[in-house]
Amino acid sequence: MPMNFGPDYVRAIAPYQGGKPISEVAREFGLQEASIVKLASNENPLGIPESAKQAMMAALEDLSRYPDSNGFDLKAAISAKFGVPTDWITLGNGSNDILELAARSLVSPGQSVVYSQYSFAVYPLATQAIGARAIVVAAKDFGHDLPAMRAAITEDTRLVFVANPNNPTGTFIDGEQIAAFIRSVPSHVVIVLDEAYTEYLSPSQRYDAFAWVAQHPNLIVSRSFSKAYGLAGLRIGFGIAQPGLTDLMNRLRQPFNVNSLAQAAAIAALQDEAFLKKSAEINAQGYRQLTAAFDQMGITYVPSVGNFVLFRAGDDDNAGAKVNLALLKQGIIVRPVGNYGLPQWLRVSIGLPEENEAFIVALKSVLA
Ligand SMILES: *Cc1c(COP(=O)(O)O)cnc(C)c1O
Repeated sequence: MPMNFGPDYVRAIAPYQGGKPISEVAREFGLQEASIVKLASNENPLGIPESAKQAMMAALEDLSRYPDSNGFDLKAAISAKFGVPTDWITLGNGSNDILELAARSLVSPGQSVVYSQYSFAVYPLATQAIGARAIVVAAKDFGHDLPAMRAAITEDTRLVFVANPNNPTGTFIDGEQIAAFIRSVPSHVVIVLDEAYTEYLSPSQRYDAFAWVAQHPNLIVSRSFSKAYGLAGLRIGFGIAQPGLTDLMNRLRQPFNVNSLAQAAAIAALQDEAFLKKSAEINAQGYRQLTAAFDQMGITYVPSVGNFVLFRAGDDDNAGAKVNLALLKQGIIVRPVGNYGLPQWLRVSIGLPEENEAFIVALKSVLA
């Protein structure tokens, strides 16, 4: 009899499928790394901010020491920038860490977690990892159906994940609807509002979720340094919640979950308004470039407010996988989303103008 280690709910987890690394595609398809364009993981095409690079160079000297476990300087910088008290802040090894800390600190095995169909892949992972029950609510027009999510909450629900903007669909719900949803959720249920792409919103779309935290002891807002701030490889993000929830999550986190280089880089990136502005601009420009090409080619896509676009690769059941493979052979890495239940679609991250162009040229030849 083969030995089955671990609980059933852990063995049932489907591992996270990330974007293929450039080195792997070069090896598999016999391509030069320099010729490969990666538009698969919603990374910042501008690279890391120069300000963050400088801050890390200065921080190198102290790497024999443990990081500041409480992230004093970074919390002060977050507090200064966003006007939140430092005891509302939880630092995470990526905002992924915050999502997991919320699940682990709030939900017992057997209790339920509510999230939307086609929402971020980490929600099912975080739910299954703790033996909790997922209540997956059907999406509406590829986005969250908030009234249906409210209705899906049961006695044993402890957590609701809402991504705004959502990944992988790029959909957006305006602030008033989100606020009304938060007000409607029973007080025994905690809402994680995942704002990994909030920096890309236009001024008219913006809302202040941190102000809602003051009114709602059951709200956690998560932010990431991986997208607009350009620090994906460092793994850093943060959560904002009232001290009750913040204290709970901080009991569970690893004492040194955020490394020293990440803390130093994040402080610099937070203050680098010019980089953030440029990131948003190049993204808006790239969105117009990609969607103009999709329109011209008659390709269906979901309008996106993030730094990526979900587009329909074809009508076959495995159109996404087929087009993905053909693109890989041409050195273009995008993201298949079959694991999200979208096997006919692909997600492309918005790159630099020349990267977007290389993708468009390759897609045209693949679909010809
Ligand atoms: C990318 C992403 C994150 C988190 O990324 P980290 O690198 O862990 O900060 C969180 N939520 C969504 C919806 C994302 O797309």
